[in-house]
Amino acid sequence: MNISDFTKWSNRATAWGQTYLDTLRTRPVRARTKPGEIAAQLPAHAPDAPEPMDAIFADFERIVPDGMTHWQHPRFFAYFSSNAAPASMVAEQLANTIAAQCMLWQTSPAATEIEGVMIRWLRDALGLAPHFTGTIQDSATSATLSAILTMRERSLDWRGIKSGIAGEKTPRIYASAQTHSSIDKACWVAGIGQDNLVKVPTDSDFAMDPKALQAAITADRAAGFLPAGVVICVGGTSIGASDNVAEIVAVAKAEGLYTHVDAAWAGSAMICPEFRHIWQGVDGADSIVFNPHKWLGAQFDCSVQFLADASPQLRTLGLRPDYLKTLEQSDITNYNEWTIPLGRRFRALKLWFLMRAYGLDGLRARIRNHVAWVGELAERFRANPDFVITTEPRLALFTFQYTPKGGDADAATEALLKRINDDGRVYLTQTTHQGRFVIRMTAGQFDCTRDDVMSVYDVATELAATP
Ligand SMILES: *Cc1c(COP(=O)(O)O)cnc(C)c1O
Repeated sequence: MNISDFTKWSNRATAWGQTYLDTLRTRPVRARTKPGEIAAQLPAHAPDAPEPMDAIFADFERIVPDGMTHWQHPRFFAYFSSNAAPASMVAEQLANTIAAQCMLWQTSPAATEIEGVMIRWLRDALGLAPHFTGTIQDSATSATLSAILTMRERSLDWRGIKSGIAGEKTPRIYASAQTHSSIDKACWVAGIGQDNLVKVPTDSDFAMDPKALQAAITADRAAGFLPAGVVICVGGTSIGASDNVAEIVAVAKAEGLYTHVDAAWAGSAMICPEFRHIWQGVDGADSIVFNPHKWLGAQFDCSVQFLADASPQLRTLGLRPDYLKTLEQSDITNYNEWTIPLGRRFRALKLWFLMRAYGLDGLRARIRNHVAWVGELAERFRANPDFVITTEPRLALFTFQYTPKGGDADAATEALLKRINDDGRVYLTQTTHQGRFVIRMTAGQFDCTRDDVMSVYDVATELAATP
């Protein structure tokens, strides 16, 4: 395929996409594919001779769509949604076509400058204090790794990036058991190790206990460890638990520790002032991550990291070899110095399209609806004696169990979840909470309606009644 055929095939892809999106509701949400089924349809080796685009496109239509779980399906209630508002898809098409490496201002002036403006738009939209700057990363995992490396280096006065961490005191990171596994992974790859991620006990609301944090730091200092930083959970992945940010930041600050807030999912809801109480005190944090690709509507991937002072992270990650120096320019931002990868996609464009095409009011209305509908759905389950709400709605997430009389609730819940997902009208996933198997229900898909959310009750009760 040549550039002269670009319009033809792009239009074909766009037309396919329009039909796909228009008919998503008719597809089962979760793929019905068996392991190995897709790979078996592909030849073992790459072709030596060029193949016509017609054949490639036909195979795509034949093999791929039915082999996918449909994340943009309006009845996708599993994990957390990964949105792609139509306007952000269009922006991604444009960014894909320009296909720039946005590592330096000079390699991408518009991408760099729009990124700076989008960070400010979002900072203000979330109600954060004006001192925050930031950058766009691929994922919360990368942003959290950047923050944990910064915690490590700051505690070692940046000796680690020079001479390595062997022979240094062992840095310690603190987080509650409600934080995401990306914090564990960051400690693994930062050379800190799982054993030096201290899981601080939580209170009855699953929030980190500030007194227990203080006690852990004091005990670690006495034992010769080097307390380095605290990861604060706002809207945890399992049940949506949040730490008391103000109290935890106060303990960390008094001990000279760096703080990173993981609000990967819940951060989007902070565009609504009425929800901001859940991260009250956040302006005192050093670093904050949230994923506009989760709930706000920006096409994956798009994770925003805000920094109260960018210099510790730039000192940790901001390598600038001679061949990347921008000659005759000093007052410019080179975002690769803020993050781990050198190469960067033009992710700011979809945020620009998203916020303009729907307006903050349109984005707020969607999030408010999701929260209200999920609350309403929880009440329907609560009113049915065969179901128990195991954790209350936190924003747009609650968990429940199926508890038929005389049965084992864990086994009954697991069996019901399997039947719901095999049925295909909705898709839900599970978590373990206090040793129990519970179903997570979360709504956040950009186009889902109240009926879509309420259908979870109908599907669950219908399948429970007909074993
Ligand atoms: C989804 C999620 C993450 C991981 O996000 P990625 O962008 O996929 O790395 C981290 N923390 C929380 C709380 C999450 O919900």
